[in-house]
Amino acid sequence: MKYSITQNYVNGQFIDSHTNKFLDIVSPIDGKLLSKVPLSSAVDLNNAVTAAKAAFTSWSKTPIKERVQVFFRYKTLLEKNLKELAELCSEENGKTYGESVAEIEKCIELTEFATSLPQLVTGEVLEVSRGVECRTEHVALGVVASIVPFNFPSMVPNWTIPNAIALGNCMILKPSEKVPLSCAKIALLLKEAGLPDGVFNIVNGGIEIVEAICDHPDIEAVSFVGSTKVAKIVYQRSTSNYKRCLALGGAKNHLMVLPDAIPAMTAQNVAASMSGCAGQRCMAASAMIGVGNVDHIIEKICDEARKIIPGENLGAVINKESQFRIEKYITEAEQQGAKILVDGRNTKVKGKEEGTYVGPTVIDFVTPDMAVATEEIFGPVISIMRTNTVDEALAIENSNPYGNAASVFTQNGGMARYIIDKASAGMIGVNVGVPVPREPFSFGGWNESKFGVGDITGKSSIEFWTQLKKSTTKWNAEAGVNWMS
Ligand code: NAD
Repeated sequence: MKYSITQNYVNGQFIDSHTNKFLDIVSPIDGKLLSKVPLSSAVDLNNAVTAAKAAFTSWSKTPIKERVQVFFRYKTLLEKNLKELAELCSEENGKTYGESVAEIEKCIELTEFATSLPQLVTGEVLEVSRGVECRTEHVALGVVASIVPFNFPSMVPNWTIPNAIALGNCMILKPSEKVPLSCAKIALLLKEAGLPDGVFNIVNGGIEIVEAICDHPDIEAVSFVGSTKVAKIVYQRSTSNYKRCLALGGAKNHLMVLPDAIPAMTAQNVAASMSGCAGQRCMAASAMIGVGNVDHIIEKICDEARKIIPGENLGAVINKESQFRIEKYITEAEQQGAKILVDGRNTKVKGKEEGTYVGPTVIDFVTPDMAVATEEIFGPVISIMRTNTVDEALAIENSNPYGNAASVFTQNGGMARYIIDKASAGMIGVNVGVPVPREPFSFGGWNESKFGVGDITGKSSIEFWTQLKKSTTKWNAEAGVNWMS
């Protein structure tokens, strides 16, 4: 085993969990055992919540300008430790080193945004009547929880950590049990940056900890990122316990390609979107709808896909179960009459035979009723459907229960605007394959890709991580001079 057993992080210390149940953490790259992760119990969570609650008194009273100093230092530490963080990310998640570098760079951008929060959370004040002022302040909630998925071991935790903590909350992070190592490194960097003990805590585990978070009476808010199935469970359970909850779910993102799209640029974008991070991105292109004759572009997409080499510029998928699930989708589509133009099944990387790789896969002549057309595959696979009109393409996109992202490739501005208006998704791209809004714009989908109000990053996250205090004060001595008595 390359690393020691993963520990929880409570009150500024790494400590053993109370459990005797552990899961292996295996690198998807080569199948080597990296560590073991504890399946902690509600007792472990309770200890972390107690520490966070104690830290909240002082942290929430620390002026925000002072709180963000920690994140200025944390940003510098992310930069200094970029290589180590990126290597760890690739090792536990399987993505390429370049993709991991981009992930850490995004963590830096997220932290930069948090350092700007003092500029954004100034309250409002107005003299509403003679001598009477109304004033608003953003006030921290208390102990909050962040439950994260496996596909971005550093970035998704950093969607929530800097903003929630800079805004005065204390946090319990529940990493994905598949990739907990990056989160431990994040804890070390936060400590080095000067974050007081107890403000940030990690409780490792699986379902039991998630359920305990949803039920814990001292946790005020729960953010969740993961599959739609679990997002629904977490949203229902935590809101039924009167907590605020923002739960981001899965996705099935559609790219609409029109005949006037620039072929080379479109093909590169489509191939990069479907295969980046081995297709394990909630923003990955998963379905493409060719409107009219786009055969010349599909040909180029196949050429681009063939340039993507597993183990070189394509990482591994998370585990054998995922590899099997993705290959099953491809085989079923083939059996139902779709045509596999580029086939990523049965991929082996020389010297990494125990790695879990699926090659880039392009499936053409998919019909809207096939599972590859409607379900999240979460692998480097694009399912191509054909329509005659943009409205038919939009009808397919609109009928999908998810609504994270959609993109259109065209040179026609009017048509692009029409699709922006009609697509039923929270994030839309025009000639962009992965339309992730950069900071300070916020990230969040629609429909079954998100449950709860607001978005998880950017300005929108301020509303989620704080509550507004409204005060009305009267400073004039006279009685009865106005209606504010
Ligand atoms: P997942 O839903 O299996 O797991 C997410 C978290 O929930 C993990 O911490 C896990 O321990 C916990 N969990 C798993 N099953 C549970 C259960 N039955 N009850 C309670 N908790 C449970 O997701 P994943 O496989 O880690 O990540 C991939 C999914 O995340 C994909 O669907 C992807 O689209 C989605 N995702 C969405 C976004 C977004 O912004 N919408 C971003 C990243 C990933």
